Amino acid sequence: MYNLTKCALCGNEAELELSHTVPKMAVRTLKKTAIGNIRSTENPNKTIQDSEKLYMLCGDCEDLFSEKETWFANKIFHPYLKKEKTIFDYDENLAYFITSVNWRSLYLDILDFVENSVVGIDALECLIESEKIMNEFLRGKRNDLGKIENHIFFFDDIKELSVGASNFADLKLHATFHRGIGSYTFCYEDEKTYGTLTNMMGVILVTLYHKGQREVWNNTEILNGVGRIEAKDQQIQSVFGNELIHIMETAKKASEAMSVAQQKKAEDRIKAAGEDVKNYSVFQDWMNDMDLKNRITDK
Ligand SMILES: [Zn+2]
Repeated sequence: MYNLTKCALCGNEAELELSHTVPKMAVRTLKKTAIGNIRSTENPNKTIQDSEKLYMLCGDCEDLFSEKETWFANKIFHPYLKKEKTIFDYDENLAYFITSVNWRSLYLDILDFVENSVVGIDALECLIESEKIMNEFLRGKRNDLGKIENHIFFFDDIKELSVGASNFADLKLHATFHRGIGSYTFCYEDEKTYGTLTNMMGVILVTLYHKGQREVWNNTEILNGVGRIEAKDQQIQSVFGNELIHIMETAKKASEAMSVAQQKKAEDRIKAAGEDVKNYSVFQDWMNDMDLKNRITDK
């Protein structure tokens, strides 16, 4: 955990506000729809009340970001999760929002990468340069993002995902993505594919700093301005597919590691919820997982 003394965005030594590393709309929605408590994948035997929080931004910068968060929550996040809409017309707020979310994560990951020598020099230079561009963009010092690309994909509706895993269904695809929230930076140094990913319950925001030659992303890119994105026919061929597998494996391990007593507690809570359980969205996720398994074994 880092103790920042200056605002990470504007550099002012103002009093910093405690903010979520992942937008609070996702945390709120997750809390509202979860049966029982949110369970951390890192320590499945301990329930957490909230996602990670950090003193990172001054009041002014926090306000700047939260305005875009509200826009995203109202125009895309909630309508999509409530299944009200699949086609979204957007304006410059969207590129700003994705950039702000992934910038926060990138900023913290760079501190970690430098301190612990996690990545090579080429990757690190690219990340540091990208952070600078995003910082200037977020403060209104520049209007473009250079070669940096923002993407969204909607996990339910993704049509094709090229990854090298045969037991995809075993990894509890839907539930993992919808229950999960989290953000981190990935570097595939052989391919030179670098990016940051934020999962907000199956709405995945990706910022790519550099794209390897074999990367194919169709119907996922968000323009820096006005455009339209559809939760339909999205296709990704990417080393990034490995990230999805990684997220799912982590969740799977976590659920296997849950102690018998904890498991019983969770089951009791579900039983106590009785018929109501069908009203929780997590129930629908289980159903979707079952569907997927059946479909794959049918083949
Ligand atoms: Zn600031």
